[in-house]
Amino acid sequence: MEKKKMSLVTKIMLGLVLGVIVGLLFVSNKEIANTYIKPFGTLFLNLIKMTIVPLVFASLVVGAASIGDVKKLGRIGGKTMLYFFVTTALAILIGLVAANIFKPGVGVSLAGAAAQKATEAPSIIDTFLSIIPTNPIDAMVKGNMLQIIFFAVFSGVAATYIGEKGQAYVKICDSIAEIMYKITEVIMGLAPYGVFALIVPVIASNGPKVLLPLIKVILVCYVAFFLHALLTYSFAVKFWSKISIGQFFKGASPATAIAFSTSSSSGTLPVTLRIVQQVFGVSESIASFVLPLGTTINMDGTAIYQGVCAVFIAQAYGIPLTIGQQVTILLTATLASIGTAGVPGAGFMMLMMVLSSVGLPLEGAALIAGIDRILDMGRTAVNVTGNVSAAIVVGATEGELDYEKATIMGNDKSLKA
Ligand code: ASP
Repeated sequence: MEKKKMSLVTKIMLGLVLGVIVGLLFVSNKEIANTYIKPFGTLFLNLIKMTIVPLVFASLVVGAASIGDVKKLGRIGGKTMLYFFVTTALAILIGLVAANIFKPGVGVSLAGAAAQKATEAPSIIDTFLSIIPTNPIDAMVKGNMLQIIFFAVFSGVAATYIGEKGQAYVKICDSIAEIMYKITEVIMGLAPYGVFALIVPVIASNGPKVLLPLIKVILVCYVAFFLHALLTYSFAVKFWSKISIGQFFKGASPATAIAFSTSSSSGTLPVTLRIVQQVFGVSESIASFVLPLGTTINMDGTAIYQGVCAVFIAQAYGIPLTIGQQVTILLTATLASIGTAGVPGAGFMMLMMVLSSVGLPLEGAALIAGIDRILDMGRTAVNVTGNVSAAIVVGATEGELDYEKATIMGNDKSLKA
């Protein structure tokens, strides 16, 4: 009997499930998991991260140059931002409603909550000013995504305006981007093992003991994560593109799984970029514009988490939240999710900002700290899936989604993600 080859998606899912099982077996031996298994996960993650800065910069230069005219760029930018804002606001709304219905904080004991310090929200002016890099090389060294985006778009557009002389620059960037995509493809072959090695130590260190006391808040967050993905993204993708809901989730799944196991949307970016173009057929110009931007500012999962946790903490302290305060949470959590970096644990720091905006005790966050990693995995998976949906919607509405090229539309039987 001929053996059927397992697809990469199946292998990654298998790595994830096995990782959870093996992680549970290592709960009482987490040092072994941390010493012998974790390094392989770090190795995999470092390999992906290696490609981020050159990939984002180069593909965005090519993307901006191929869009060329500033007006079109502005329209795409406006559309993208609108999609980000609306989906994030919906995300928090779903989180707030879920937390108000399921009341995860009622009956929680607050003993042992340690003091925490709030992160100051940067002023809007400072945020805007910091988008412009005074030294683009420094921005690349530091991996400052918004600054890299700004410089790449600006220089890409300038390159088209000067015509012939700008072509060499665009060509070099095109070549760099292609090389980075190839590297990502090779690294993706290791994804099943990488995902496994990343997840084992997380589960081993966050075993049932840490999770059980706060199981309700974890469940409410995950219910809200699923609802948002199922309602908002499914609707958007179905409404604006010809991609079915099943195709959407299946096609996005390697990125979702890597986001889940790494808790880093930045770390997942090279994979997301590749999937959006190859699997869904979105043009490079749209993908390279929407995804790096989304990875930096569009964090629906983080917004849900902040909404749920704020209500949870209020309930745990027996502080009733008025509708007005919940609207404040909606607004600050939208801003906080924009300011959250796509790295593990960043959303937790921003949670403090949300709590202080409605005068909730920051000590409450200490309760969340113990389970934050588990929540981080889910919210990062939503963040990344949300960005995939944004690229599809913007691509489809701009006529820059080539269904013929999309492997998920049956053009390539083996889902080469
Ligand atoms: N880890 C999340 C991400 O990378 C951010 C967060 O902590 O909420 O998307």
